[in-house]
Amino acid sequence: MIDLRDTLARLERPEYIGENRCTPCTAVNVVLSFALAAAIGAAASPFAGALALGVSLVLVRLRGYLIPGTPTLTRRYLPEPVLERFGKSPASAPTVETVTPAELASVLTAADVATDGTDELRLTPSFRARWDDRLSSDGATTPGRDAVRSALGVDDVDRLGDASFELEGRQRVGWVSPAALAADAAAAAELEDRIDGWDRLEADERRDLLTGLRLLRDRCPACSGPVVATTERLEHCCRRPRIAVRAACDACDRPLVDLVVAESMAATWLELAGVGTADGSSAAG
Ligand SMILES: [Zn+2]
Repeated sequence: MIDLRDTLARLERPEYIGENRCTPCTAVNVVLSFALAAAIGAAASPFAGALALGVSLVLVRLRGYLIPGTPTLTRRYLPEPVLERFGKSPASAPTVETVTPAELASVLTAADVATDGTDELRLTPSFRARWDDRLSSDGATTPGRDAVRSALGVDDVDRLGDASFELEGRQRVGWVSPAALAADAAAAAELEDRIDGWDRLEADERRDLLTGLRLLRDRCPACSGPVVATTERLEHCCRRPRIAVRAACDACDRPLVDLVVAESMAATWLELAGVGTADGSSAAG
């Protein structure tokens, strides 16, 4: 007699199910299961179609995939925005979406915040001094709702945690550490005077600009220790690989930047910030 439970267990592919199940791949396979069942139902009989559907769905349930090689298929044919919607992000880190490295460079150089020397964006000494002055005068307190309200230009801000907030009662935003938030709050106060049209920027655009700017810091906003940046390639079964960029203080270990950028953009982002990619890590700034 066939032991059904044993048979099912042997069919299981733990690497593709449970926690490891990939939502986009599963969705694609369920759609394929229905398409296959409809074709069999039309060609043979409705019963054969229903049977095929049942078997296909059981296979997807047990194995994660019906068709071998789905991850590659999904990656190739499902557009990135669709994959994004499935919400299985490779990391919880925010991505930089509204500002390209070139835009960041042109906005910051026009505002005399940074200079675009030998392919590397550097803070101007005057901006660096103003930023640090603001940090040391405000730095003792962790920025709260008011700081976030004025930094992002949003009226309604609720605090959720140390460095996480809810904007307008719907959008949740977070900083990697209170130190990162302090850096952004101080920088935003300076940028307001220096960038024409800062008032008209959306909260997301401001956050992306501030994140890019934070990547240019080579000193910790909390303790002035040296900042070390590292990069890591994030592989994902059905999505194009992305690059995680992290920067943290070497003295106090506070994280300052933790973001994910598309691989196609990573080289320019890192080049701008003076972060080496050859060996995977190097000092920033
Ligand atoms: Zn530090």
